[in-house]
Amino acid sequence: MRRIFVRLGLIPSVMLVTGAIWLISIMVTLLVVSWLGWSGERTNILAALVMATLAPLIISPPVSWMMISLLLKIDRLEVEMRQAATFDALTGLLSRRAFIEQANFFLQIANRDQLAAAVLLVDIDHFKSINDGFGHACGDHVLATFGRIVHSFVRKSDLAGRLGGDEFAFLLHNSSVSQAYEFAERLLAEIRSTVIEQDGCSVRFTLSIGIASLPKGQAASVEKLLGMADKAMYIAKKNGRNRAAVFGG
Ligand code: GH3
Ligand code: MG
Repeated sequence: MRRIFVRLGLIPSVMLVTGAIWLISIMVTLLVVSWLGWSGERTNILAALVMATLAPLIISPPVSWMMISLLLKIDRLEVEMRQAATFDALTGLLSRRAFIEQANFFLQIANRDQLAAAVLLVDIDHFKSINDGFGHACGDHVLATFGRIVHSFVRKSDLAGRLGGDEFAFLLHNSSVSQAYEFAERLLAEIRSTVIEQDGCSVRFTLSIGIASLPKGQAASVEKLLGMADKAMYIAKKNGRNRAAVFGG
């Protein structure tokens, strides 16, 4: 029922409810009339039918308007809450929880279909010094810009999420380790050539990326792959940042 109201909108829903109540009111009145056996008293029947029409037409519109508006408001809030739980507000990427959930689902499908997959753990280099040097708002611009770039980079079948702070993760569907490395190199090059210029903040930034791959036909949870990618990212950081490293590579 709620779905129907949401699809119709407020005014058509109010009209629908009023129409339905009017129909019920007429039917009930006719039933009562036939039950009481008012066959000869036309004026009484007419009066009953007028009442059966007027009462719902007067009462139903304001009452159903109030109730349906409330229902539509609850529905809007629910959509907003689901949106907030699924997406990170600053970058528009998946939230940590949504990423983990969806990635584990993707990995099960990949295992079932004997497809490879790769997980990338991405961390912005020296992000704290961007905040310290240019202000928190500038740091936020960096995160939002990174989110926009990522949106244009990943395929529809891939997943991209913000795990927290300046740390992000990708799940590349049906991608070998070399394809994942190539993806990481392209992303690194794009970020290197990006200058953030907004509200007096002018900065460049770089990334460190750790890559872990799931070979065809193998099963692993995203948590396990993220742990492997984290070790690879540590190597990328240790080797001078602004680069990608592969777990076990
Ligand atoms: P490294 O090169 O080793 O990654 O160092 P780092 O400075 O990037 O990493 P660190 O973990 O020391 O700092 C991350 C900082 O990110 C600390 C925290 O205050 C900041 N941060 C976390 N969330 C946000 C946010 O939403 N906006 C902004 N502007 N800063 C954030
Ligand atoms: Mg960092």
